[in-house]
Amino acid sequence: MRSLQSEIEQHGARIFELVDQHPESLFSKAGFYQRMMALSMRDEQFKVQMFRFVDVLPSLRKSGDIVQHLEEYFAGMHNGFAPAIQSGVRVARFVPWISAFILRRNVSGMARQFIAGKNCADVMKTLRKRHAEKIGFTVDLLGEAVLSEKEADEYAARCLDLLECLVRETQGWTGPLGKDSELFPVLNLSVKISALYSQMNPADPTDAIAHLAPKLRPILRRARELGAFINFDMESYAHKNITLKLFKTTFGEGEFKDWPDAGIVIQAYLRDAEADLRNLINWGRARGTRFTVRLVKGAYWDYETIKSRQNGWNCPVYFQKPESDVNFEALSRVLLENESIVTAAFGSHNVRSIAHAQARADELGIDRSRFEFQLLYGMAGPIKRALVEMGYRVREYCPVGQLLPGMSYLVRRLLENTSNEGFLRAKFSENVSAAELLRDPKELVRQNRANLPEATIPTIAEDRHPKNGASIESPPGDIYENSPLVNFVYQETQEKMRTALREARNRFGEKYPLVIGGEKVWTDKLTPSVNPSAPKEIVGYVAEAGIPEAERAVKAARAAFDKWSRTPFEERACLLEGAAAIMDRRRYELSALEVFEVGKPWAEADGDIREAIDFCRFYAERMRQIGRPRLTQHVPGEESYQHYWPRGVALVIAPWNFPIAILCGMVSAALVTGNTVIMKPSEQSIVCGAMLMQIFEEAGVPPGVLNFLSGRGSVIGAHLVDHKDVDLIAFTGSREVGLRIWESAGITRPGQRELKHVICEMGGKNPVIIDSDADLDEAIVDSIYSAFGYQGQKCSALSRLILLEENYDRVMERLLSAAGSLRVGNPEEPGMMVGPVIDEAAYKRIQEYIEIGKSEATLAYQAKEVPPEGYFIPPTIFSGVKPNMRIAREEIFGPVLSVIKVRDLDEAFEVANGTDYALTAGFFSRSPADIDRAKAEIEAGNVYINRSCTGAVVGRHPFGGFKMSGGGTKAGGADYLLQFLLPRVVTENVTRHGLAPEETPEYRDEFLWPQR
Ligand SMILES: Cc1cc2nc3c(=O)[nH]c(=O)nc-3n(C[C@H](O)[C@H](O)[C@H](O)COP(=O)(O)OP(=O)(O)OC[C@H]3O[C@@H](n4cnc5c(N)ncnc54)[C@H](O)[C@@H]3O)c2cc1C
Repeated sequence: MRSLQSEIEQHGARIFELVDQHPESLFSKAGFYQRMMALSMRDEQFKVQMFRFVDVLPSLRKSGDIVQHLEEYFAGMHNGFAPAIQSGVRVARFVPWISAFILRRNVSGMARQFIAGKNCADVMKTLRKRHAEKIGFTVDLLGEAVLSEKEADEYAARCLDLLECLVRETQGWTGPLGKDSELFPVLNLSVKISALYSQMNPADPTDAIAHLAPKLRPILRRARELGAFINFDMESYAHKNITLKLFKTTFGEGEFKDWPDAGIVIQAYLRDAEADLRNLINWGRARGTRFTVRLVKGAYWDYETIKSRQNGWNCPVYFQKPESDVNFEALSRVLLENESIVTAAFGSHNVRSIAHAQARADELGIDRSRFEFQLLYGMAGPIKRALVEMGYRVREYCPVGQLLPGMSYLVRRLLENTSNEGFLRAKFSENVSAAELLRDPKELVRQNRANLPEATIPTIAEDRHPKNGASIESPPGDIYENSPLVNFVYQETQEKMRTALREARNRFGEKYPLVIGGEKVWTDKLTPSVNPSAPKEIVGYVAEAGIPEAERAVKAARAAFDKWSRTPFEERACLLEGAAAIMDRRRYELSALEVFEVGKPWAEADGDIREAIDFCRFYAERMRQIGRPRLTQHVPGEESYQHYWPRGVALVIAPWNFPIAILCGMVSAALVTGNTVIMKPSEQSIVCGAMLMQIFEEAGVPPGVLNFLSGRGSVIGAHLVDHKDVDLIAFTGSREVGLRIWESAGITRPGQRELKHVICEMGGKNPVIIDSDADLDEAIVDSIYSAFGYQGQKCSALSRLILLEENYDRVMERLLSAAGSLRVGNPEEPGMMVGPVIDEAAYKRIQEYIEIGKSEATLAYQAKEVPPEGYFIPPTIFSGVKPNMRIAREEIFGPVLSVIKVRDLDEAFEVANGTDYALTAGFFSRSPADIDRAKAEIEAGNVYINRSCTGAVVGRHPFGGFKMSGGGTKAGGADYLLQFLLPRVVTENVTRHGLAPEETPEYRDEFLWPQR
């Protein structure tokens, strides 16, 4: 008996033989497309620019814009294409419409390579041709990103229309093989689940299914009546579990339980693919009806790796290409071994993967009429023909739709075709030998770098060191690793959060003391903290401090200062890291508390705890970097060392909107730099404050070094700000209070030793500009999130959306329906985007602003339904807003968005910069020149391009603004700790009678801790 490998080689050799009989380049469309692809494979920079240009082109309306983008993308390039572009641009300046026309035609041609038709009638031309070639079809409607329920409904309606049209047009068609055709209906529709519900949230599968199933049922019902097959495509990992669950739920329902014409995709590049597949097979057996699995490797590899690296998640995909190939083969085997219940569809262009499936089917005695190969339209034509000739069933995946919604599909295909790792490039562009292409991928995995013993692989840090020994400084944020966000895509994490919420609820009403000088202090007054979603619920009570407790706290902090200031910074850094570890351990508990105490949706609450952990770890590392006395300059005979002393007693006054992160950030910075601290949480988030105190106590903060005072800002806050023994005030909060602190701190009181230093972060009136060429799918989703995420109560939230006349109507239409689809409700439910505002005062104030808005501008949208109980404000959008109106100038701190229409970009920048604030700003554009301009001109401490303007990450986005937004300090940045320190330089003349030591050490640690 021959080995499986030799069988695979035989099948593979036959495919290649047939492929070579009809030679065709990978890029069968000659000319522009072929040249673009060839250049992309040679030149990575060109590839990036080319894909970006292709991406923006369909959205450009004017010829002049096309020419301008062409120049911006390619002008600086030095490759074979550059002279053509440059002369093209020269011509274009005179006759822009000609160049624009040619470019559009060429890019449309490129898209037509992969998009089978604009609509049903158009695609039928292709399908008929393929039918004659014995190739079947599955059609897919382009348009993956739906921003609103209106768009989702449109997608569902288009699916139904397409079914009706295709059934008419394909009447009388039969399967190509005669046998077993009942397993493979002619009419096959691939559906993208995310296009059916705009608010799909991985944390909330129940809600997703409750919305998706009713939209799907009519499609399934009609498909069944028409004898069509429905396949669920698989998209990014975030949607995977919901897609699987939806499949099992709907096809488990009585109406569809005995319907075999349903299929789903399994992606072999996922590490958990085998578990999912086996689970599906078990489900199928219990259901008792056949179903189909299309096995693919997966189309989102780059996206998944980038996304998981950004969020610190375990990457769901394999890192090595051959690992995906090996898994594809393992899963092929599982599928074929379970042929009695599942029909296999192998979706691959890789001859090795295909030949393996063929050989495995032979080995298991499965007739070739009982499974099929599926390949994409526009790719690997010769392989399709070869498979047909060999008597296999072949189906082509045919995307249908317009170029604009098809852009992300097109870019995925271009990426795949030019990927270094791809089979098609290896075979058809680089002419790799058949023997090499048919090798067992297992052998390639073993040879890979990642499997070498660790010691032989240079680390990134080592790679960065040049040979001469001088080190290139790495970016400050690279000194530590951010804590990963909790990924609520997993059932396990969802369960943990639910349990934490139940437990937090059980602790409602608990009482917490003040902590002064290490002692728990109770007063005769308790402050209640209410749940803004249900104000009758008391989350907890904290003892209320008055002036006597404030005085006691100052004394305790003063008394502890001497020792703490001399405690080695390493010990202080370890305290922070200990606190971070405790927060990590209690992560779900703390997040749950925030859901109840300040109304944060799950992911926002988790983000807050993550930020607190990051502050501790980042500041600990920064302190290690700046803590040692460092030589200022080499000079013979003299040594000068700069180092830092803490300022003294720090008063930390924090807001409620990031109730643990901001409090912890300011406290940890003050502590690690050697100051002693009085921490005063916001009156609305006192239980969070009490928790942070517990955490630092457990981490071992010495008595008096950190003191916890909860009480009224107007009483103890004001008293402490004015106190002669408070040396430093770290404040984050409203402009009104911030300015008062700033002023008051300027007064020197009798007995005061230091000039008070104020670190002051205040509000914003943050603008986002959407340029005329912006990707609206992205710009609208991110703007909605920036404006309404956490009810618009982030200081970074978007409150002024600036739209150009040119695309105003297009943006508004989608923006308003996207806002209309938002989920508003109690954030205890996982998928809520908009919860309650913090308290009754905020509720009233925001309502007043809404009234002002109604009198000043036009109410363009306001949600109708919000829960009757709790401080819920409906998301509200005003249009016709002018820059001088109050709603365009004053901070509202709620889910209220003002839209300002402007003539052009000049006016847009003027409006963006025209307020008292300068905190965050956003700019959406695909014009490199406009992006550069935004980077240079927008007045904001944090300028975000093509992403939301909220969600700063410690170390990555040092956060804080200027003008009336703050004093220019950057929380989570390299310089932040310096705010808490006094620099000091010690200079010693080390010359004695003209003799000086030859060597001067870079650091002198001795005088930090002198031998007494
Ligand atoms: C009919 C059909 C339907 C499809 N439907 C879907 C779908 O619903 N969902 C979906 O996600 N994809 C789908 N795809 C796309 C498919 O995933 C890609 O076309 C496929 O991954 C290319 O694989 P290949 O076997 O043809 O080529 P190969 O060149 O052998 O494999 C390329 C693939 O390997 C993987 N890969 C690349 N680099 C690495 C690496 N460093 N480490 C690990 N793995 C790596 C990636 O998945 C990449 O796409 C479909 C494909 C076809 C043909």
